Amino acid sequence: MSRLGLIAALRPELAAVLDRMPDERRQVIAGREYWSGHWHGHELVAVLSRIGKVAAATTATALIERFAVDQVVFTGVAGGLAPGVAVGDVVVASELLQHDLDVSPLFPRYEVPLIGLSRFSADATLSQALASACRSALVSPLETLGREATVEFNLHTPRVHQGLIVSGDRFVATSAESRVLRDALPDALAVEMEGAAVAQVCHDYGVPFAALRTISDRADDAAHVDFQRFIDQVASRYSAAVLEAYFSSLA
Ligand code: SAH
Repeated sequence: MSRLGLIAALRPELAAVLDRMPDERRQVIAGREYWSGHWHGHELVAVLSRIGKVAAATTATALIERFAVDQVVFTGVAGGLAPGVAVGDVVVASELLQHDLDVSPLFPRYEVPLIGLSRFSADATLSQALASACRSALVSPLETLGREATVEFNLHTPRVHQGLIVSGDRFVATSAESRVLRDALPDALAVEMEGAAVAQVCHDYGVPFAALRTISDRADDAAHVDFQRFIDQVASRYSAAVLEAYFSSLA
């Protein structure tokens, strides 16, 4: 039986997951609380990564080394970059890249030295399963989120996108900066601060990895607006609903 490692970037997202685990046991490693238990009879270890690439890489390493998870899923929020990737949509990564990694001219820009890769592929099977889970969870935002949040954030027809997610140690909160990112990486759908680091760790260990991100902002001058409220009211509920649909889809 497989054991899923689930990494969340923010506390309310983790709380929504723990609410659904009837039997979680807590173990603290390197200041992180790892929660082992079950969801619909499937083994799960859930943990909060905190924010940023190093924090996420440390969390992922212990998750793989100490809990022997055989797949890793990251859930969080992100800023939308590509046109049409709107607040309330979900992006499932097909590839992940560190947009702030640049060892040029020694190596091509974005390439991780000595690995020879700039883009880490997400596991195709796991990502497809998560994308279908997202589609079923997002069919009715009203049912998943309730009327208040649906109206407040205008989430009537959320979409599921699949493509490149870029990560860096920077909260992108100006239109000028997101324009620079869009110009340099035109196929990037969303920007966040952890995914590509976890993808690199999983690549090194040979563990399948997938990531899903609810779009909380457009990585522009309004990116800070009601961030916390969006996470509580929308992103955490989406994460829980998507995982619920994912686990129900497993045999
Ligand atoms: N201002 C926030 C902190 C931002 S942390 C607060 O009040 O808590 C941002 C988290 O959301 C990180 O986990 C990151 O992965 C993700 N994220 C969401 N929008 C982002 C953006 N525009 N740029 C970078 N990361 C973003």
